[in-house]
Order: sequence, then structure tokens, then C-alpha cells
Amino acid sequence: MTAPDDAAGHVVLVGAGPGPAGLLTAEGAKWLSRAKCVLYDRLVGRDVVQLAPASAERIPVGKRPGGQSVPQERINELLIEKARAGGVVVRLKGGDPFIFGRGGEEAEALAAAGVPYRIVPGVTAAVAAAAHAGIPLTHRRIASTVAFVTGHEDPDKADSSLDFRALARIDTLAFYMGVGALRATADRLMAAGRAGDTPTALVENATSPRQRVVTATLATAADVAEREDVRPPAIVLVGQVAALHGRLAWVGRLPLSGRTVLVTRARAQASRLAERLGELGAQVIEAPTIEIQPPASFDTLDSELRRVGERDWIVLTSPNGAVAVFDRLAALGFDARALGRVRVAAVGPATAEALAQRSIRADLVPETHTTEALTDALLAAARPGARVLLARSDLAPADMAERLTGAGMEVEDVTAYRTVRPHRLPDEALQALRAGEADWITFTSSSTVENFFALAPNTDLSAVKAAAIGPVTADTLRARGVEPAVTVDPHTIDALVEGIAAAETAR
Ligand code: SAH
Repeated sequence: MTAPDDAAGHVVLVGAGPGPAGLLTAEGAKWLSRAKCVLYDRLVGRDVVQLAPASAERIPVGKRPGGQSVPQERINELLIEKARAGGVVVRLKGGDPFIFGRGGEEAEALAAAGVPYRIVPGVTAAVAAAAHAGIPLTHRRIASTVAFVTGHEDPDKADSSLDFRALARIDTLAFYMGVGALRATADRLMAAGRAGDTPTALVENATSPRQRVVTATLATAADVAEREDVRPPAIVLVGQVAALHGRLAWVGRLPLSGRTVLVTRARAQASRLAERLGELGAQVIEAPTIEIQPPASFDTLDSELRRVGERDWIVLTSPNGAVAVFDRLAALGFDARALGRVRVAAVGPATAEALAQRSIRADLVPETHTTEALTDALLAAARPGARVLLARSDLAPADMAERLTGAGMEVEDVTAYRTVRPHRLPDEALQALRAGEADWITFTSSSTVENFFALAPNTDLSAVKAAAIGPVTADTLRARGVEPAVTVDPHTIDALVEGIAAAETAR
């Protein structure tokens, strides 16, 4: 069979993994990025679905607890219908498509209809839960066999299809959908000969920032689950290996485990900050207080960029500025060569990195990453009379231009992008603030502070620790009556994350 080309229409059954986009395979991500249509289950992480192009049709087909779901028959029909309309149709299923996901039935329906398909495996929940709970499913000394078992059997069903006598002899058992019927499952395993003191671990919301591991024995598991109110999705791991959790757990030991951090950056910029915080164990809630938009008119920027080669310096005070300038140069039909001999100044490493990605090495990056330090550095580096182009946000204060002009430079200060306040904060962020769930809130510029208080006017931040990227942002917070718990130097995202982690470790 030749590889089906995208136009002909075919279905890709993709295992989405247990939730976070990082645990999706690179192959799955590739097909998602080519999707014309995505049908996804409820347990599939939002970040995963977002990897599809913005233009892709998104169809949720998952079952909500106690709610309506799209019947399997209808899902099969939809897959066939969408594939016949052409393009890549991605069927995103939680975990692995062939582990308790009815992926087998979907493949059968596609095969019967003659619709081309391929299957991309995923990290199944038991494997993910084991890794993130520090419970090796097999172990040279204590476990040589492992079984993935559905725990979703009707406990009153007289003759369960599960062979408990056989299961009782398998070293490690991983029960999916096992919380509801846990008492019946445990009773039957014990009746079939499994020891009541067999270590048992329940891993709730595995791999998510809300992951919780509850340990018990087979005999106490149902009571403990009830007392601790363990809810789906959870994996129940039964076997000697479950006792290793006490020694091998690593998730709960990260510096920001159990902490919730609100990130007020623009969504487009938040990813690095959110990613670093997440790596340290934090639950990150995005509360974008700024949105980056193009200038109201490109006229001034365009005419400056058309003759940018005549300048001595171009000055960029944020990665947004760098992106805006090079996007616009490209729109005008130029590339990096338009800069010719123009020297380039960047406020800090992130801006320098944005330039480096466009093959421009910044000639000047001040040691302190503030506009003030950049101005000082330029005053030292540029000759009087130098022709300087500042390409900045519409809200950039005038003092930089004034000081350079005052030193005899010929300065043009153009708006490369606008910093706009969104209409409202996401519900999730408002809810976290109201419920007092946020431990930290990060501010990466004065406008994030101003906009935050405009969007959440009556918020009491007294129980939330504020982290400011630098002294200017910190002062803006103080003017609002908030004393930052952390202000970092250098004024970078990495330093901000380290500052929060250090403050938590010091507690
Ligand atoms: N195809 C999926 C399983 C679907 S059945 C896979 O391969 O993982 C749904 C069950 O998977 C849930 O009831 C729960 O037992 C388990 N599950 C899915 N995601 C989980 C998670 N993040 N943490 C714990 N269990 C999870």
C-alpha cells in the first residue's frame, strides 16, 4: 500500500497519552499538526488538542461523567464521513488507542468501510501512572509479570469475565476504571488467593499537576479510597512493586509540587514561563493580562523599515519587538540583509535569542536587562549624532528616546506592536483567585500589573505571593499596595522561576 496522501483523506488513530502534551509522541504531534479535523475524547489534554492547526475542525466526542456521550456507532460514522471529505482526520484517544479505548472497534469500522488509516501508539495510563508515582511495573527481583485489567466490571455481575484466579498469580496488576468497583475487585482477588497485605497504590490524575498517590494494602484499599475520596481518572496498582513508591516517588518532591502559580503574561509569551514552572511541579494557570497586536497602521513602521539600512542602530526592548520587526520586513519582501551594517541593541537575553533565531547577533546587550541600562549602554556605545531606530510597544515610555535625543542622537521611536488589555481573565484564573487556590502570581512587566488590577479590580492578593521580574515591575506592584515576595536579578524568566523555587525551598 502506498502512503495515503493528505488530500485523499485518511484517519490517524492517535494515542494522546495521559494528558500533558509532552507525553504525546512526536509522531502523534506530526499528524495532529496536519489535521483537517480532530475528534477527541474527554480525557485528552487541552494542550494536546491545541497542537492541531487553528483552522482544524474540532469535535469532542467524549463521555462526561454521568452525561451524554456520542454513541460509538456515531463516532465510527463520523470518522468515515470526515475521511471521505478528504484530508487528515485525527482520532485522538486518551493514553493508547488499543488499551481500553475502543480503538480496535474504530479500526474495524474503518477497515470494513475501506477507509485508509494508520495507528500511532500512546503512553497508556498505567505506564504513565507508574512512572510518575515511582512504581516500576516490573522489577528484576519482585515482579516479572504485569497485567492491564479493566476494573469496570459490574460488581454484582454473577460471573465476571475476569479470571481472578489467574489474575491473583500475576505479580503486578494495573486496574483501569477501577475506583468504582474497587471493593468487589479486591474481595475477589483475595478470595482467589492474593494476600490481603499486598501493597496497593491508587494514582489519581496521573501526570497532571493535581496527581495524587494514595497507598494502602489490598485489604484496606477500598476503605482508604473512600476515606480519601479518590476519584476517576485513577489507576489502581496492586503488587509488591507498589511498596517502592515510598522510596522512588519523585513528583511530590519537586520544589513547586502542590503549588499553584498564576501567570499574567500574554498567552503567546507565557509558554516558556509555564513550562519551567511546570517542570518544577507547579500547577500553572494562565491569566493573560496582555495581548500582543499589530500597530493600528503599518505606515510609519513600513517607511522606517524600508530605509532601515540608513540607520546606525536599531534598538529592540522586547522579543515582541524583534518578532514584529522581522515579520514586517518579511511582509515587505526583505530579509535580514535589509539591516546591512546597522548595529542591533537588545535589552536582554530573550530579545537577543529572538534575534538569533533570525540569524542576527545582537551587538549590544546590557548587563542589567532594563530599558534604563540599555539606554546607558547605548549612550556609551553610540556616537553623538547616531541615527537610532527604536522599534517598541505603543506603551513604551518616552524617557529612552528623550535621553538619546538629549545626547545629540537622531532618534525615531516607532510602534512595532501594540500591547492591548484583553476583555477579561479566563474563568479558571478568576475561580482560582476567588477560591484562594493561587499560591503565587507572576508579573513580567508593569503593564501586566496595571492590567491585572484593571481586570480583577477587587482581588485581595494578601494571601498570594507576588513575583516581579525587576525593580520597575516591583514598584508598580508597591503602588498597588502589594509588596512582592520575590524580585529577581537578572530580569529574566529563568531567574523568575528560580526565585520562586528558592523562596519555596527556603520555607
Ligand atoms: N486508552 C486509555 C484508557 C482509557 S480507559 C489509556 O491507554 O490510558 C479510562 C481509564 O484510564 C480511567 O478510568 C483511568 O483508569 C485511566 N486513566 C486515564 N488517564 C488517567 C490519568 N491521567 N491518571 C490515572 N488514570 C487515568
